[in-house]
Amino acid sequence: MTVTASWSIQEARTTLGVDAPDCEECYGEGRVFYCEGPYLRERECDACFGHGTAMPCPSCQTSPTDDCETCDGHGILA
Ligand SMILES: [Zn+2]
Ligand SMILES: [Zn+2]
Repeated sequence: MTVTASWSIQEARTTLGVDAPDCEECYGEGRVFYCEGPYLRERECDACFGHGTAMPCPSCQTSPTDDCETCDGHGILA
């Protein structure tokens, strides 16, 4: 999956002076495990797009919108 957020975490860090916490969904791993029948499978974390860090979009933290220019509607920066 390609991250299409207009801002990267690096840009937000530079511009806003804030750092991205580890993703709460995958504990910073960027991957989550789930069970599919008898198999344990692994997939990219949805919450952080596999980056392991997830910074809430500073422009739309409370209500992500599809046309947010900062995050392109993702609600987070990755
Ligand atoms: Zn994650
Ligand atoms: Zn946004």
